[in-house]
Amino acid sequence: MTFSQSTKLEILKILRHLRGCCATSFLTAVLKSIGSLTLGYKSFGFVVESENHEMLTFCKHLAEANLGISAEIESSNLNVKGEAVYSCEFLGNIGEKLGLVYRDEEGTMQINNRLEEILPTKDCCKRAFMQGLFVASGSVVIPLGSNDLAESETRGKYHLELRLANTQLAKAIQQTFAEWSFHTLERKNRTILYLKESEKIADFLVYLGATSASLKLENVIIGRSIRNTANRQSNCISANIDKAIQASEKQLIAIATLRQKGLFDSLSDQLKEIALLREEFPEAGLEELANRLGISKSGANHRLTRLIQLSQQD
Ligand SMILES: [Zn+2]
Repeated sequence: MTFSQSTKLEILKILRHLRGCCATSFLTAVLKSIGSLTLGYKSFGFVVESENHEMLTFCKHLAEANLGISAEIESSNLNVKGEAVYSCEFLGNIGEKLGLVYRDEEGTMQINNRLEEILPTKDCCKRAFMQGLFVASGSVVIPLGSNDLAESETRGKYHLELRLANTQLAKAIQQTFAEWSFHTLERKNRTILYLKESEKIADFLVYLGATSASLKLENVIIGRSIRNTANRQSNCISANIDKAIQASEKQLIAIATLRQKGLFDSLSDQLKEIALLREEFPEAGLEELANRLGISKSGANHRLTRLIQLSQQD
């Protein structure tokens, strides 16, 4: 099961007792985002198609318990991935009850395009609406790789999205839920509202009631941050070691040059002392050399720099 699927199941589970205004709001979100109008005898019907059988069963239950409207779920066909797709047909005027369609003065059914009448305003209903929207048309991806290879393959992939068939609806939802600052993009005739910041996605999952999904995500975020810090530290340490080795090589070359030129014996005792120590301990750091001589680091550095200068003189 993907992370998206388990998150949706978790949300449906906590909504078992959803009723009243919020039940209506959940259904509105599902029908408005993925429902299609069907023209029946004297009325519009609604059909919702999805691979998510649990969601359709839940919608059927909501419609029956709260609106007195029955529904039928049938298996319809397979999607491009070969998964079973189910369709749920609502029998009755669910569109009118939810305010998605209305009768004009001549009694003809019209689609209600006044989104401000459809989108929720109360906090309880806003949340139920967003839960319906996510379960029906959303998905979430997080980097779940347990080994380093998977980790690098999925790097940076925190992504939560809601796919909407029309831009006008997407814009209205973006405004109604302005506190989440959704980004938008267009993909295959759809408008996508999405979040990509890991912490914001974790907060959003809590808002949806998917607490265990959010905890799972938090663990991934923490795990990655520990690994990143460890990598940075080890890169930093090896960079320092490289620098120390390079410095030591330079000093050893300088000392060898001084010997070749016959200048070594004419060096001061202080310089001879540190040159011999360097030859004896090629891998020692500056601090270690300074400690062995009982002088300061800057004193040791000064003497080694002097050796290099002298080796370069003609
Ligand atoms: Zn409500």
